[in-house]
Amino acid sequence: MSATTTTDLAALRHTAAHLLAHAVVDLFGDDVQLAIGPAIDNGFYYDFLKETPFVPEDLPRIEARMKELIAANFAMKGEPIERAAAETYYAQRHQPFKLDILRGIPLAEPLTMYTIGGFTDLCRGGHVESSKDVGAVKLLSIAGAYWRGDEHNPMLQRIYGTAFPTQSELDAYLAQLEEAERRDHRKLGKELDLFSVEEQAGAGLIFWHPKGGRVRAIAEDFVRAELRRRGYEPVYTPHILHESVFKTSGHLQSFVENMFGPMEVEGQRYRIKPMNCPGHILVYQSQPRSYRDLPLRLAEFGTVYRFERSGVLHGLLRVRGFTQDDAHLFCTPDQVQSEYESTVDSALTILKAFGFDNYSAYISTRPDKGLGDDAVWQKATTAIRNAVESKGLPYEIDEGGGTFYGPKLDIKVRDAIGREWQLSTVQIDYVLPERFELTFRGADGAEHRPVMIHRALLGSLERFMGVLIEHYAGAFPVWLAPVQAVMLPITDGQVEYARSIASQLSGAGFRVEIDDSNERLQKKIRNQQLQKVPYMLVVGKTEVADGTVNVRARSGDQKTMTAAEFVAKLSSEVASLK
Ligand SMILES: [Zn+2]
Ligand SMILES: [Zn+2]
Repeated sequence: MSATTTTDLAALRHTAAHLLAHAVVDLFGDDVQLAIGPAIDNGFYYDFLKETPFVPEDLPRIEARMKELIAANFAMKGEPIERAAAETYYAQRHQPFKLDILRGIPLAEPLTMYTIGGFTDLCRGGHVESSKDVGAVKLLSIAGAYWRGDEHNPMLQRIYGTAFPTQSELDAYLAQLEEAERRDHRKLGKELDLFSVEEQAGAGLIFWHPKGGRVRAIAEDFVRAELRRRGYEPVYTPHILHESVFKTSGHLQSFVENMFGPMEVEGQRYRIKPMNCPGHILVYQSQPRSYRDLPLRLAEFGTVYRFERSGVLHGLLRVRGFTQDDAHLFCTPDQVQSEYESTVDSALTILKAFGFDNYSAYISTRPDKGLGDDAVWQKATTAIRNAVESKGLPYEIDEGGGTFYGPKLDIKVRDAIGREWQLSTVQIDYVLPERFELTFRGADGAEHRPVMIHRALLGSLERFMGVLIEHYAGAFPVWLAPVQAVMLPITDGQVEYARSIASQLSGAGFRVEIDDSNERLQKKIRNQQLQKVPYMLVVGKTEVADGTVNVRARSGDQKTMTAAEFVAKLSSEVASLK
């Protein structure tokens, strides 16, 4: 990777957008109307209005023209222009969107026209010096987009592209895009029958099918065992609570746009919970607490509902209903450090088990509006840093980037194709204990305020499963696979034998299926490969006669062994994998 900064990349891509408009005007003439062409996260776009819309076949031609413009190495030159002159310029050229842009720029703001090659565009600047600096470009797609994002305005055609300083960086990005598409959890979710979104039930609500349900249940069981080892207590709290609780917690004041509306029962208003914290606080408050009860660690796979615009919903990654592996630690200020250490340790244990071994930590410290005593914040931030350092995690500090209620630690992982995902969050909170007036009786006999730590290590189960599916490209490791082995009898004559082996395996606790369809063996094997089942056990006449199974691993390895040998192999694999 080169040392290109984000600003360099944005300038390069923004310049590429000028070249895109240049190429379009060269190829399709001046009657194409031009709108805007910014750099975006992974590339750039330009919006056009063309009488006959662009078709995908146009993209290679436009791209070829852009490459000529890059090779010609034109300098980008800016010239100030008077408003009246700019208006005349675009009025003469019948460019209504440019005139609209001009009308939106405050009168006091100076205007600049930028020219590269034979193309001039009104622009604020932020370019590379010349077209050669744009490096390597690729046009990716065409989409419709309303002018200014407003559906009452004309629909424009948006051409998306990306650009990198070098061809090899562009190639690496395109390869990653292709790989990401192959791993898309929405596509795999359907192919492997893991989950669905049912239109009639509403957007952003996930239905787990039996196979996805198995994987999720195994993941939950694993986390539950870890929680037990770490001294967490399981609790279950209601999905709806009286609205007054969310008034006390402050959600109704500061989080209401993300909450579903109230429902009325016997004249009382209830809300579906957007977070689990208030429920756990009520459990804490249900009796007087002493320092001897602390730390109190309450854990729940808590399902919450939050309103998200339908436009931003995305498979399992952005949903309206999800389950957090949530827990709240109530402790004394002195216990913060050790609770943090244990939590970070637990996060790494869990993330590692699920196959992630590349982590980075982000610590967000006190913002200006942070509530409470500065010394307390300092102490807590140091505690977080010590916890992270003791684990040898690389970390970055986001100075002042915390929320107003306390410093926070985020742990991000890199997946199999190098993408970073934020999974674990450990958040100290000084505000909710205040709002709910939580206390504990200290060794001194006086009442004190506990500190609360919110932590979710997988985050949302839905989102985590989405990440997991993409990380493994649907080929879950043996311990997580919804079906660990499938029996493939070659003919009807071996179905009985296959059943008896299957019942031995399921008796030993494994997830086994039989494909006793009338398909030919090759077809059965192909089907199971598509399902990414770790082991296929083929049984024909020889295997029945010898009392063996022919084991074909997902990796391609083949070996004949007895059922008992296979059970031993599977057991040791599962034990070592998690
Ligand atoms: Zn520009
Ligand atoms: Zn919480």
